[in-house]
Amino acid sequence: MSDSYSLYSPDLPNDYCGRFAPSPSGHLHLGSLFTAYAAYWRSLEQQGTFLIRIEDLDFPRCPRQNIPLLCQELQLFGLHSDKKVRVQSEHLGEYQQAIQTLLSNDFAYFCTCTRAQSKEQPCTCWMANKQARIREKLARDPDTPHSCKVNITPYLESEELQSFTDVNLGEVKQSDLEHPLNPYLTLERADGIIAYNLAVVIDDIEQEITEVVRGADMLDATFLQLPLYELDSCEPPVFCHIPLITDSSGRKLSKQNHAPAVFADYTPRTSTLLCLQLLQESVYHELLQQEDVVTLLQDLEQCEASLTALITAEVSTQLQKKLQAQLRKLSPKEKDEALALLTPTGLTNMLLLVATQAQQAELVAQREDDDFLSDYDDDDEWADEDEDEDDDGVRENWPRAYYEGIATGTYGPWSKLLALWSTALGETSWQQAQELTATYYELLTRLHTEVIGPHFQVHALPKKPIVL
Ligand SMILES: [Zn+2]
Repeated sequence: MSDSYSLYSPDLPNDYCGRFAPSPSGHLHLGSLFTAYAAYWRSLEQQGTFLIRIEDLDFPRCPRQNIPLLCQELQLFGLHSDKKVRVQSEHLGEYQQAIQTLLSNDFAYFCTCTRAQSKEQPCTCWMANKQARIREKLARDPDTPHSCKVNITPYLESEELQSFTDVNLGEVKQSDLEHPLNPYLTLERADGIIAYNLAVVIDDIEQEITEVVRGADMLDATFLQLPLYELDSCEPPVFCHIPLITDSSGRKLSKQNHAPAVFADYTPRTSTLLCLQLLQESVYHELLQQEDVVTLLQDLEQCEASLTALITAEVSTQLQKKLQAQLRKLSPKEKDEALALLTPTGLTNMLLLVATQAQQAELVAQREDDDFLSDYDDDDEWADEDEDEDDDGVRENWPRAYYEGIATGTYGPWSKLLALWSTALGETSWQQAQELTATYYELLTRLHTEVIGPHFQVHALPKKPIVL
């Protein structure tokens, strides 16, 4: 790699640690995969650590069964965490502890404003809360709903927080923000849910994150989070805000805006190349000039085509029929979501996923337990659950249980899907699928680590939203 790729990186420590922190609100969409790749490539370019964290504190929006699903999809698209995945809901004690400390230092206060009141006038509860006895009374009073907040006005008005230096955007001023910031920052909502900004700051401190790569829609949040670092007497990480991807009408691609699942339309290869092109068109075209990169991409494409060719029309019909039969017990909405994934690309992705799981399970089996694989066929483990089985002995509540099973290490439903695929493909093709998958991920890993990572140029990222 030539020196011309040296980066503009203000005060970056050598022990670089980056992260991607999605919410498990549903399938991965292109907007979040785009941010994930940017964060991953940046950590590769810095030869640092890359961590995945699951932000699931908004429980109603982020059902727990979605977590394994999300982890599987990230893995499918080539994204692995270098350390154990941190799941926020497993760290509630740490957030509570931080709130207690802020309360006992008189920084945090209880707020009894209703949502409507908060909109009409600034919260003044912090004044009343100056008296510890009022705080203590509220803390013990379950009948008066209250949230916990901190008044960060002095920080927002301080000279230091008028701006910060972003790795991609350069100097970002508070006065450039579209809306004024609300200085009464919620730490814990009245319904007991820990607020996003607090949790993120605690996590980034705990995980020793040195640089946060995230979407430019988080600029406001950055100004709100910086005071929390000061309150905690911690150095904030460096921030790098990347452009958002919007649809043609300028709306951000998000779950709320019904962005389609990446799974249905893009393979790991095509999504990687699309995101690289969208983020760094010049780098993308430059890489395509290099012979060894072109060869690598051709091999990868060939491997993908061979894998897809195994799913013949006959196999596809057989699978679609069986998979649809599994969906009977889902709600109409869940069923529609699941069916939307059964595209030709979705089936190729599913085969990649299933074959990878088969290999991983075999490794586990060799390592830990000779009888592990034979346990796959043992229905006893599932017999006392009140799920019906169809003629083939396949459980009907796929895909939820499938995703749950593979990620939690209980391989029951997963083994059924594996059986379904291996039966449909026949022994020879199933064997080929596993070999092709192993090769595919070897090539994909090389594409990320040897080609894209070292050439990734953070100062060449676009500054404006990208219209898809
Ligand atoms: Zn209030």
